[in-house]
Amino acid sequence: MSAANAAPGQGPRAISIDIRSVNKRYPAAANSAGVVALDDVSLDVKSGEVVVIIGPSGSGKSTLLRTINALEKIDSGTIVVNGDVVTDKATNLPVLRSKVGMVFQHFNLFAHKTAIENVVLPQVAVKGRPRAEAEENARRFLGKVGMLERANNYPSQLSGGQQQRVAIARALALNPQVMLFDEATSALDPETVGGVLDLMCELASEGMTMVVVTHEMHFAREVADRVVFMDAGAIVEIGSPAQVFRNAQNERTRKFLSLVG
Ligand code: ADP
Repeated sequence: MSAANAAPGQGPRAISIDIRSVNKRYPAAANSAGVVALDDVSLDVKSGEVVVIIGPSGSGKSTLLRTINALEKIDSGTIVVNGDVVTDKATNLPVLRSKVGMVFQHFNLFAHKTAIENVVLPQVAVKGRPRAEAEENARRFLGKVGMLERANNYPSQLSGGQQQRVAIARALALNPQVMLFDEATSALDPETVGGVLDLMCELASEGMTMVVVTHEMHFAREVADRVVFMDAGAIVEIGSPAQVFRNAQNERTRKFLSLVG
């Protein structure tokens, strides 16, 4: 690793997520040739880094994120997260996914379980934690996301923003090494978006390694260490927010940014 990778005043940071030459094609439907969703994508994310992925709809952002915790299989290439080879058939996927927390657009909470049960159950099932410890932990993380008072509510009794906070607490309670956010605020009412973005910002400032797919350009500008622009399954441009937003090298990046403002 070169000195250029070093954070100011620190030694070089270790690579947390190493994505090498990843290709993925979705199989052809009856009369189509299939879709190249990822076209020779390589990206490394350093420990504690926040990488924000932007790009037009259908450019492969979500597919790339989902390959990192093996929700999508890839056709070729390798992905390694903190030493675990995600793309190795022998990798224990539930254990991997507890280390690589993911927050989805549509929360995916258990509808028939309370907020606290949603945070407790994965800890018991995946980490094998005793219930009392899992409950204590759940209360701690629900407190962190500002949802302790609603611990006994069911998802249907919570706003979208509140459900998303519970989903974030659920992921954090497994002590992930990395957090992936897939358009985590896209399905929220406008008045609850800010609170979830603030929470993501707080996680970033605490040093969590994060890969974030978002349409929130303000978040990308303010919070990202690096911004990745994807188009047609490929990484077209990558750089600091200042480089990408103010001095994009590629015409496709400039065109996209002019549309999203
Ligand atoms: P983005 O997140 O940038 O909107 P996606 O990763 O969702 O892009 O999609 C990339 C491409 O792969 C698009 O052309 C999309 O239509 C296609 N695609 C995504 N998921 C599937 C799927 N399950 N089956 C077939 N094609 C898919």
